[in-house]
Order: sequence, then structure tokens, then C-alpha cells
Amino acid sequence: MNPSQSAPVGQFWRDLPAAQQPEYPDREALRGVIADLESYPPLVFAGECDQLRAHLGAVARGEAFLLQGGDCAETFGGVSAGQIRDKLKTLLQMSAVLTYAASLPVVKVGRIAGQYSKPRSAPTETRDGVTLPSYRGDSINGMEFTPEARTPDPERLKRMYHASTSTLNLVRAFATGGYADLRQVHSWNQDFVRSSPAGRRYESLAREIDRALSFMNACGADPGELGAVEFYASHEALILDYESALTRTDSRTGRLYDVSAHMVWIGERTRQLDHAHVAFAAEIRNPIGVKLGPSSTAEEALALIDRLDPEREPGRLTFITRMGARAVRDRLPELVEKVTAEGAQVVWVCDPMHGNTFEAASGHKTRRFDDVLDEVRGFFEVHRALGTHPGGIHVELTGDDVTECLGGGDEILVDHLHRRYETACDPRLNRSQSLELSFLVAEMLRQ
Ligand code: PEP
Ligand code: MN
Repeated sequence: MNPSQSAPVGQFWRDLPAAQQPEYPDREALRGVIADLESYPPLVFAGECDQLRAHLGAVARGEAFLLQGGDCAETFGGVSAGQIRDKLKTLLQMSAVLTYAASLPVVKVGRIAGQYSKPRSAPTETRDGVTLPSYRGDSINGMEFTPEARTPDPERLKRMYHASTSTLNLVRAFATGGYADLRQVHSWNQDFVRSSPAGRRYESLAREIDRALSFMNACGADPGELGAVEFYASHEALILDYESALTRTDSRTGRLYDVSAHMVWIGERTRQLDHAHVAFAAEIRNPIGVKLGPSSTAEEALALIDRLDPEREPGRLTFITRMGARAVRDRLPELVEKVTAEGAQVVWVCDPMHGNTFEAASGHKTRRFDDVLDEVRGFFEVHRALGTHPGGIHVELTGDDVTECLGGGDEILVDHLHRRYETACDPRLNRSQSLELSFLVAEMLRQ
């Protein structure tokens, strides 16, 4: 990498319309922030992005499964060792269950170390007759409902960089420093199964995994692979000033990489073909995700493939479908069929969260665990019927015992939502609901 090469590259998107960008009152200050970001070291290396693309290539071919998850919106206040550890721990536990059930490698990607920017359905919010800009994530403005907090401040982009850096540093230490050892992860799963009412149903699967590990141990097998994991970082590439300031030319290949994360995705609200986000993603070599909601057409999906994966490279493009439990069985088949007929080997991943959000009587934005599960089930059914690979799941979760989504084995009710409703944006599965989802997806993988 040669940071001095960064300034002139990756600017072509500036001539195109870009949805969901903040309006900074002080453009001069923004220019100064961009110049600083351009001088900062990369968070990830291009070679790691290539590795992840290769792993996702295996997912596209049906030889691996993707687990992508984390907060809807990370917050600067949430950058603490405990919260990062518990999120990672939850993802590792889910991954162990899925690996065993799928008998396939699980590619682990966090919505982490950069997921600080949110697209919003309305640009403003009104409370008690007062209208202010909507909260767009900690990278843009503050959540507090005051004119000061809600005014976009470019300095926050630098705080996002630093928050991402310290998060990723800790994630890397946990992933390789002994914490992620499979035997330890399995013992946490055993605790979940033994000590929680939600976990008991899954005792027999946990026992099978235990036997497999004991068998390996008895054989004297102690492969290094059990002691550490590869864990990748991803976020929505929403704020193009930030993403392009962190886009650099790789000295090995001369190609552009967005070094703010291994993988970035384009959201449902910014995937217009002739707009800036797609143009930006087309120029970088990272693996790219695109969210596809229930209004997506097969023509749009095919055009996105032409634009983002012209070489038809397995692992380059991931379609993250978020249809909703009620629409997935109607809307998904045509997309999968036409994309497959075109010969493109994309990764198909199910986001069972964003099509299932509603407002509860208590006023909280929430989701039902049963709807989440039903959308994943529908996703598996569609792919099984078409002979394609249900490549993975993309979920909003936390390692904390929050009360944001309804249902699950511990039966969270509308009346409980207020107890620990802590999300900065969308409702997340809590620790127990996440683990339960992984055991239920494990059952689908084995069918
Ligand atoms: C999200 O992933 O938090 C999100 C906003 O999703 P979508 O773009 O699918 O609405
Ligand atoms: Mn969300």
C-alpha cells in the first residue's frame, strides 16, 4: 500500500447522485477530515479481502456456509471489551453449531468494526411539534433529540475510524489469541443447553458435538485449526466520503481496495444501478454484498451482476435477500432462477430481520423470533426446491441479554420490551435467541 496514491483514486462516484448522504453545514471542515482519513493507515489488508473473497467463492459453490452478524448500528459508547467479547462469543458459538450441522466450513463475518452509519426512511423526525434531522448513526450525528446533537459533524467520521480500529484490534486478538478455541466455544454451548430453558431442546445436538470432539481427542488429534478462527469485518458502505477516503491502491496488484473492512455491502435504499454507491462498489476489489428487498426484480439483480461482477467470479458478489417471512416464498424463486440461468455464481444469504420489522403496541420497533425463523425456513425451502445452495444467514444480534425481539424459548413479550431495549437502531436478537436460531438453522441444514 502506498497511502500517497490514495487521494486521486476512487472519486468518480462524486458526479453521480448519492442517496442517504449527510448534509454537512461546514464543507471546509469535511474536506479537512477527508484529508486526515486519507493519511490514516488501513484497517485491513488487501490480501485479507482476497482471502475472504476466496472463502465466499466456496460458499457460492456450495462448499461453505456464511454466518454474518452483529449490531444494526454500532455506537461509540458500545466500544468496550465486554460488549465486543460477548458479541464475538455469540457468533463463535453459533458458528460451532452450524459447522457441525452443515459439515461445512463456516465463514465468519461480523457486522462489526465499522457499522456506524444508518440509512433512514425519513430525513427528519418530529417530536412534540419539534422537527430535527433523523439520527443517522454515530458516524454522522448524535442520538439525543437536540439541534446540536442532530447536526451532522464530520469529526465523527474520524471517531468512527478510531472506534473501528480499536474494535478490530480486539477482535483479532480474540480470534487468534486462544479465546476462540473450539473446545472452549463448545463448553459455552454446553452451558447454554444445560442452564437455560431455551437451550434444553438442543441437548442431543450438543451431545453429538461433544462426542465428535471427544473422539478426535481420543485419537490424539489436536489440529491448530481448533485453536483459532479467521474472523472478518463488514459494514454497509453508506457514507461515501468515508469509504473513498479509505480506498487505496494495493501495491501488489495496482487494484483499489476499500481498506475500512474486508467486505462491504450496499443497502436496500442505495442500490440504484446508476447511482454513486453501485459505482463506488464496482471499482473496489473487496467482496461486495447487496441487499435485495421484496420489490427487487430479476432484471435488477442481473444488472447488478453485470455491474459488480462482470467477470462472474464466485465470491465477489453476495446477494443478501430480506424479503420478509410472508414474501420470501413468492419473491425469492424468480430471482434465484434467473440469476442461476445467467450462469452467475453469487452467494445467496438470508437476512431474516429487515423484512420482519413492525411497531409493537408499546411503541417499540420489534421483530418476532418466529417470523425470523420462518423467513430462514422459506429461504431454505426455495433453494432446496431449485437445487441451489442456501449460502448463509445475515442477522442483527448482540451478546447481551437485551429485550428487543419478541418470542424465543425465553418468551419475550411486548410487556418486556422496555426492560432492556438498548439498540441504537433496529431490534437485535439477544444472546439466547441467537444461539437458539443457530440450533434451529442447524436442524434445517441437516434435513
Ligand atoms: C441494515 O442492514 O441495517 C439495513 C438498513 O438493511 P436494509 O438496507 O436491508 O434495509
Ligand atoms: Mn438494521
